[in-house]
Amino acid sequence: MDGFDIHDERFRHLVLPNAPLVKLGEGFAWLEGPVWFADQDCLLVSDLPSDRILRWSEGGGVSVFRQPSGFANGHTRDRQGRLIGCSHRDRCITRTELDGSVTALADRFHGKRLNAPNDVVCRSDGTLWFSDPHYGINTDYEGGKQTPELPPALYRLDPRDGSLRVVADDFAGPNGLCFSPDERRLYVAESGRQFAADPAQHIRVFDVLDDGRRLSEGRVFHRIEPGFADGLRCDESGNIWSSAADGVHCVAPDGTLLGRIKVPFTVANLTFGGRNRARLFICASHTLYAIYTNTRGAERP
Ligand code: MG
Repeated sequence: MDGFDIHDERFRHLVLPNAPLVKLGEGFAWLEGPVWFADQDCLLVSDLPSDRILRWSEGGGVSVFRQPSGFANGHTRDRQGRLIGCSHRDRCITRTELDGSVTALADRFHGKRLNAPNDVVCRSDGTLWFSDPHYGINTDYEGGKQTPELPPALYRLDPRDGSLRVVADDFAGPNGLCFSPDERRLYVAESGRQFAADPAQHIRVFDVLDDGRRLSEGRVFHRIEPGFADGLRCDESGNIWSSAADGVHCVAPDGTLLGRIKVPFTVANLTFGGRNRARLFICASHTLYAIYTNTRGAERP
């Protein structure tokens, strides 16, 4: 099967041997934060250093959805279908209302500014869970060099009352995250020390406790090699599809590497979308790809 590495026979049932990796666009600065809008049959994706959000559709190709974007990074949709995003420049979580206006949902914790929210997911109860590492404000490239006021952490935001709480704070740099389909687990990529001699390249897993209000202690779930995990998504069977330096890695819920989709450039993030959520959209550095799979994304698109 050209284009794939099979590490476990289970992977053969998750991919389509004849499905090509299709290039949807290229020449971007750095792609991140893809989110599928099934009701509009389109993908939104951040071109982070270019301070813009792009829109892709099958008929329309790539166009600019919003510029400036506040150096938008990760995206998701809330239970009402509204776009939820992470802004590096404004150091906040945003919600795009149905009239197009943008609301800052959270920008401070105990009076101190958030660092640079990186990625965000919505739980079925409407709460928003996001990572807040330092690296988005470490350079001018992705939003502007600024001084961190808070340690890296993982937060739970309840937009109904605005309450914000830390759910994990023992990270060097939390990055992408996703819930298992039953929402009893939360997977979090740890990539904060990727430039250090002993880089963190793993995905951690937490048990979701207390009816979705707390997390257990995290444990190492899977180590990514080569590169490190950034964005990740679960399919409907609970397999984790993670970004890596050589493509997309598929990892079973027991932590076994099942296989890889080979991609020519470092992958930063990905999401399921398209008809039946069976198409994987891949942010590969400067290039946007898509490939049809034989599974479906777990997330409500
Ligand atoms: Mg990220």
